[in-house]
Amino acid sequence: MANGKRQGPVATGRSDRASANIPNVRRRGTVPIRRNVQDFEDPYIPEESYAGTVICRTCHAVHENERWSLDPKIYEEAVRTEGVQYVTCPACQKIRDRQPGGIVTLSSDFIPEHRQEILNLIRNEDERARNVNPLERVMEIEEDTNEIVVTTTNEKLAQRLGRALYRAYKGHVEYHWMGTSKQARVRWTR
Ligand SMILES: [Zn+2]
Repeated sequence: MANGKRQGPVATGRSDRASANIPNVRRRGTVPIRRNVQDFEDPYIPEESYAGTVICRTCHAVHENERWSLDPKIYEEAVRTEGVQYVTCPACQKIRDRQPGGIVTLSSDFIPEHRQEILNLIRNEDERARNVNPLERVMEIEEDTNEIVVTTTNEKLAQRLGRALYRAYKGHVEYHWMGTSKQARVRWTR
């Protein structure tokens, strides 16, 4: 149910095309990381880079010298920079538009007893991802009795969550990519 609500607007009617694109559905353990991840066309990333210092008005990420940062010290300096521009960063745009780059679904009767532990694992991966690239983050976590659905801003973090779940709890992980949207669907069961 939570599932249907969240996924509805995202990739309806794509399932046939998606299944043609599944690289290694039943592979266990190792994650089929795509080599061309950086080449994915992300409509939320501007084609031309920003000039000068740019601050996201929503999350206070700062863009300088071709990279985003979430360091509060960098933000404090950036607000005092002459000619600083305020924008909405690509991650906050995706959150606003509810356009996840990855959807991770966890289904197991193991969840009720280990809920906090699992949520901590998700939050740790989220934090680690943001520290490396502020545009990679968890958008939303929806919980049900035996199911947790996590949406992420990009497909790489979704893959990493699948890998972390497998490392911690084994079980079974499937990775699917949704046609041309490059959206990753990760499903963990055990
Ligand atoms: Zn932002």
